[in-house]
Amino acid sequence: MRVSWTSDGAVRHLTFRLDPEDDITGHCADGQPLKMATNSCRVELPREPREIHPDLAALAAWTVVAPWTRRAVTFDRPISAELAEAIHDGWGIEAGPVGASPRSGRRLAVSYSGGADSVAAAAMLPDAPFVHFQRVSHPRVPNRWTHYRADVLAKLAARTGREPTVVRSDLEFTLAEPRPGYPEHHAVAAGALLMADELDLGGLAFGYELGSRWLGGDRYLLRYTPDNPMWAPHGAWGRAFAAAGVHIVLPVGGVSEAVTMRLALSSPLREYVRWCLRGEDGPCGTCGKCLYKELIQAAVERRPLRTAIGPDRPVARKWQEPPPYGGQEMIEYGCARIPGIEDTVFAKAAAFLGATESSTAWLDRCYPPAIEEIPEPWRATVRDFIAAEIGFMNDDEARRVETWGLS
Ligand SMILES: [Zn+2]
Repeated sequence: MRVSWTSDGAVRHLTFRLDPEDDITGHCADGQPLKMATNSCRVELPREPREIHPDLAALAAWTVVAPWTRRAVTFDRPISAELAEAIHDGWGIEAGPVGASPRSGRRLAVSYSGGADSVAAAAMLPDAPFVHFQRVSHPRVPNRWTHYRADVLAKLAARTGREPTVVRSDLEFTLAEPRPGYPEHHAVAAGALLMADELDLGGLAFGYELGSRWLGGDRYLLRYTPDNPMWAPHGAWGRAFAAAGVHIVLPVGGVSEAVTMRLALSSPLREYVRWCLRGEDGPCGTCGKCLYKELIQAAVERRPLRTAIGPDRPVARKWQEPPPYGGQEMIEYGCARIPGIEDTVFAKAAAFLGATESSTAWLDRCYPPAIEEIPEPWRATVRDFIAAEIGFMNDDEARRVETWGLS
């Protein structure tokens, strides 16, 4: 794989060319098969940065091209030996040329999506600036996702009162299948990486919570994942970001989506929380994500489920079938707490799971090892917040995390 960046004012253009052994089909770090649509994309920065360390440009490119690289990646500027080693150890890929000294930075920014998890992370870090990724159309790829209102989210992010850096990019359109999206989950950080010298970033906080970090959430199911390749500090991506001097920080990595929802709804940013990108004036209320988040919100607010979605709708079909479910811990939590769940689309799931308030109480507290893996400069801030607002799991509760998926 050969990667080059060119600049046009504050716009950075990325072009990548496959070597003979590379392929337009590959896999993301979570195992999802991916097919490439095109070999170029751009990142529009809010202003021309003073400098971009070659490791930052290389890592930003790597978040896009990693799935399709088989043997070697050649960047257009020499990178540090540290980053080359991290890519070699993490992926078995030769990376070069080597010849830069490593970089470091001091500040922590929040990779801000506007969803409840990232608002909760922001609530823990009241002084952290936001970097927000906004999807824009690609000149060579038709946009069949025009209902996805990235512009609304960017406007909301700018109104939060935090120092906002909005980065616009079409990099999601490098992906043909399964649909436009980040080739690697970390591509959401491409703009933050390119701005990291300008913002003096030493860390980037993501809203990945307990399910995504430790329970095999997202596209995994029901599996305790201490060595999660995407989010563990000692995983391939954790080491690559650290080598580029931008540590991955997961302030809400030890708490469930029930806790992040509670934090988001009680945050000054509450009015800007938006997890569904289909509606213009608020969540659409009809998609699968809206249904899932409504389950969590209703459980947190201890009220009946408010939804017009019936059991025959495609987005409700999986809840009519037996587990396992993605995000199953939150389905258990919701089914155990929502009054009248037996009269909703989750009735069958609730009967299958048989969860109770006491069997799901561990999801109201923080898994302590998640605090230990936060880099030292920011650990105390997060630990103090959790101690004051949430509390920690005891040994029995922590064991629920560590035996998740073993029956
Ligand atoms: Zn929706």
